[in-house]
Amino acid sequence: MADLKNKTAIVTGARRGMGRAHALVLAKAGARVMVADISSEECEKVVKEIEKNGGEAMAIKCDVSKKEEVDKMIETVVKKWGKLDILINNAGIAQFVPFLQMTEAEWDKTININLKGYFLCAQAAAKEMQRQGSGAIVNIASVAMGQVGVGFPNLTHYCASKGGIVGMSEAMAIELAPYNIRVNVVSPGAIDTPMIDPVKQDKAAMAGILARVPLRRVGKPEEVANAVLFLASDESSYMTGSVVVVDGGWLAA
Ligand code: NAP
Repeated sequence: MADLKNKTAIVTGARRGMGRAHALVLAKAGARVMVADISSEECEKVVKEIEKNGGEAMAIKCDVSKKEEVDKMIETVVKKWGKLDILINNAGIAQFVPFLQMTEAEWDKTININLKGYFLCAQAAAKEMQRQGSGAIVNIASVAMGQVGVGFPNLTHYCASKGGIVGMSEAMAIELAPYNIRVNVVSPGAIDTPMIDPVKQDKAAMAGILARVPLRRVGKPEEVANAVLFLASDESSYMTGSVVVVDGGWLAA
């Protein structure tokens, strides 16, 4: 059982969906959790939920694509709890747009949040972890990370960002290993969060996805959060630069 007592963690994009599940699971394992999202109001609800279960948490508004907000988030955690042990880079968007119609602004928005946002948070967190001599970073990618033979139409920018996360994480894992900072990736398949609401409304699209998933169902946020907890904890102390796929068998099929 992963034990995160005396650890402090940040989860981005944590007001709902998988981020909320990561925050709840880390707090249940004993971590003090900074619940960060672009809108802080709903983060407060997650904080209350954690506190109700006996845990400790705090909410902050942080747009991960803005360096000044990211720096403030890291500063706030360290000021309040004295250190930062865990970063879960989770905030992301997925906007379905045909490639030939995709505007530069749409491309930039996705890359700025899904890829540059991960860089900004990871770099600021790693500088703090370097000072402390340890840390764990978990970057959430996706099955849309570019595995050969598995393509996702209308998500060019999203696929570019998720593939980028894998390459970025491997480079970071090598560079940060001397400081005892581990960097791993979790790549979820179709998980039941508000992000897939547009797909759920399209019965044919949903049936198409389920036909590709050997377990024949979408995943629950908690099923991904358990993998995140493992990679964030010392239970995975010999893992860095790894990609853990949580997809009901999608990529294997
Ligand atoms: P979600 O329910 O849409 O949650 C994502 C959260 O991130 C939302 O609260 C969103 O706020 C927030 N966010 C968006 N832009 C942000 C920014 N600039 N700064 C900070 N927070 C921001 O999605 P989810 O399904 O839980 O996704 C979590 C992660 O898993 C994402 O990286 C996603 O790409 C990945 N993923 C999801 C699936 C899936 O099937 N659900 C599959 C593979 C990978 P707003 O609502 O205001 O935008």
